[in-house]
Amino acid sequence: MAIKAASKESKVQALYEPIQRSQSNPAWTQDELILALDLYLKHRYSLPGKYHPEVKELSQLLGMLGKALGLNKGGSFRNENGVYMKLGNFRRWDPEYVKDGKTGLAKGNKNEKVVWDQFADSPIKLSIAAAAIRGAVETHALEPDALTGWEETEIMEAEEGKVLTRLHRYRERNRSLVNAKKKEVLQKQGRLQCEVCSFDFAETYGPAGEGIIDVHHIKPVHTLKPGEKTKLTELVLLCANCHRLVHSKRPWLSIEQVRDIKNNV
Ligand SMILES: [Zn+2]
Ligand SMILES: [Zn+2]
Repeated sequence: MAIKAASKESKVQALYEPIQRSQSNPAWTQDELILALDLYLKHRYSLPGKYHPEVKELSQLLGMLGKALGLNKGGSFRNENGVYMKLGNFRRWDPEYVKDGKTGLAKGNKNEKVVWDQFADSPIKLSIAAAAIRGAVETHALEPDALTGWEETEIMEAEEGKVLTRLHRYRERNRSLVNAKKKEVLQKQGRLQCEVCSFDFAETYGPAGEGIIDVHHIKPVHTLKPGEKTKLTELVLLCANCHRLVHSKRPWLSIEQVRDIKNNV
């Protein structure tokens, strides 16, 4: 009986396995969709086929990106067919395509529309973001720790996706850079204060608070280049609360916006 049951089970498993395998690929991330939309808009009126060199190239890049983020578990992850299908998914959001009553591929994920709405009308912004993501992935070997990391639930992912969010946070945590910034400010001002609300940890907590302050990187994330040296002028000191506010919205708030919010309460 047991043998019979097992064989029945394996038959059922065999029947469903291909479906399960394709479903086990994680949903496309914001950055991946940005790269795919960039390719889509380049070939909007005549989409490339599965064997097109640019489809192949994107498939390979997404494989690398997936490895850097820990999403690529092998198998059919972002293979050429997957990339080709994703280009087809964008069609249904493309007014140029659907105006003749065509619908594009029916299935996709909800984030395609989000990325379409964010970037389709700003192709330059899109290609700058795509180039920055590409740069970060292709030169990942230069800063191997930059893209690996855990999800920070209190940080809203940047409009430009996970790769550049992680690169931003990595730069902000660079100890020698953070120390150099604090040292410079201490020498000039004699204290470490939040540049938005003036909170001074040492003033409130005494010696225990000395040296405590967050460092925020103000360079827009789509301009981040791996290996590029961060200048101290690109860093601002923020208390943990103000820093949290900056990263709580998408797009992230500028320092000026946080100041305005605070002044208008
Ligand atoms: Zn503050
Ligand atoms: Zn920050």
